[in-house]
Amino acid sequence: MNYHQYYPIDVVNGPGTRCTLFVAGCIHQCRGCYNQSTWRLDSGVPFTQEIEDSIIADLQDTRINRQGLSLSGGDPLHPANVPAILKLVQRVRTVCPQKDIWLWTGYKREELTPEQQKVVRLLNVLVDGKFEQSLYDPGLIWRGSSNQVIHKLR
Ligand code: SF4
Repeated sequence: MNYHQYYPIDVVNGPGTRCTLFVAGCIHQCRGCYNQSTWRLDSGVPFTQEIEDSIIADLQDTRINRQGLSLSGGDPLHPANVPAILKLVQRVRTVCPQKDIWLWTGYKREELTPEQQKVVRLLNVLVDGKFEQSLYDPGLIWRGSSNQVIHKLR
């Protein structure tokens, strides 16, 4: 998996203070996408074990309390990203069980594959659906268009 950005402190993408990772790779080609540079799987830089370790360390940092981890992109549920994302969320669930995990995907929840569902079962919140420019509403929180759904899973 490649990624574009990792923000160890973020107050925009989800509730509270968070760690946020923007991965590479997305097939959805939404008109008006805010992040076209992330579409290619080989864009960005490799997501290494060191970056994964940094995320865990940041979530465990007691000096700056993070509420949780946000996963966006690109699409964290692109099939090529699922193995690395699953490994990451399994590790967060195991070593930081009190932290919440939010994930944004262009897929609809009901069309997810069994492998993608393994990730979703470990999330607190899934925000699903493509960005629809005609349904764009700047008043929405944590989603860009009104067709997207914030699923609170636990
Ligand atoms: S799912 Fe997100 S990253 Fe992918 S094309 Fe749509 S808006 Fe862009």
